[in-house]
Amino acid sequence: MKRVIVLAALISFGMVTLVAVGAQQGEMVVEVEQVADNLYVLRGGGGNSAAFVTSNGVVLVDTKLAGWGQPLIDAMGELTQNPITTIINTHSHFDHVSGNVEFPASVEFVAHENAKTLMEEWNPVTGFPGDFQDVFDQNNGHGLPTRTYAERLTLGSGDDQVDLYYFGRGHTGGDTWVVFPSLRTMHAGDMFPSKQVPIIDQSNGGSGVEYARTLRLAHATVTDIDAVITGHSTVMTRNDIAEMADFVDAFVAGVRAGKLAGRTAADVASSWMPAARFRTDYDVPPAERLEAYVQVIYDELDGQ
Ligand SMILES: [Zn+2]
Repeated sequence: MKRVIVLAALISFGMVTLVAVGAQQGEMVVEVEQVADNLYVLRGGGGNSAAFVTSNGVVLVDTKLAGWGQPLIDAMGELTQNPITTIINTHSHFDHVSGNVEFPASVEFVAHENAKTLMEEWNPVTGFPGDFQDVFDQNNGHGLPTRTYAERLTLGSGDDQVDLYYFGRGHTGGDTWVVFPSLRTMHAGDMFPSKQVPIIDQSNGGSGVEYARTLRLAHATVTDIDAVITGHSTVMTRNDIAEMADFVDAFVAGVRAGKLAGRTAADVASSWMPAARFRTDYDVPPAERLEAYVQVIYDELDGQ
């Protein structure tokens, strides 16, 4: 038998209540942060999931690593009797989609059309050596998107409305931005993972050169929001998207300058530092991983 435990009601800060619900299976604990009456961020086991409780059912954004589908189902069962009816995947990465296969076929699986292709292809992730089990292949394609879109898709209406946007390449070539208009909140997926040099996954359609433009388009288009659920960090603000765009722009400019000066990607990666205004808040990966993203930008500039 699975054991579901409620760990504790922990902290309140401002209007946000933080509740930890443990769906415990071995070490698997889903931590739940309530960000609105009917919106939760579910942490642990990969990317941040979001659960939007509508009158008809729960819309779940992202399903974490392999094995984390059932803990998500258990955690939501503690919070609402409404079944999970819709799963939106922000992009194709293993740490955001692998739990899909643990949900029943009655669930509608929604993603950008490019993300569906990438989930089917299951390419390695640039800068992340390692073989991640192809859960869709293992499950005869169950859990792959059953509904896709190209530019924009609206699900539900009124207070239950969810808007999906594709603003272009960046982290991958099929990143969806999920907006909950009634709650003035957006899930940015890994286009905004945290304040850091983002993963630029060339082998899954990502682009360093286009990254900041995509962030700016999201910021300029989706104006009626306050809160932004990030792919792997805390809930941030709409202004933080614009700041992230500036940060990525500065990174790409630094790489471009290095290339023009004839330096190697390894040399640029080992010496690049964020400008002073970013240095406190933004993380830079170790040089060997940074080099992979510098190389992606080098390759893109070569092709221009
Ligand atoms: Zn990702």
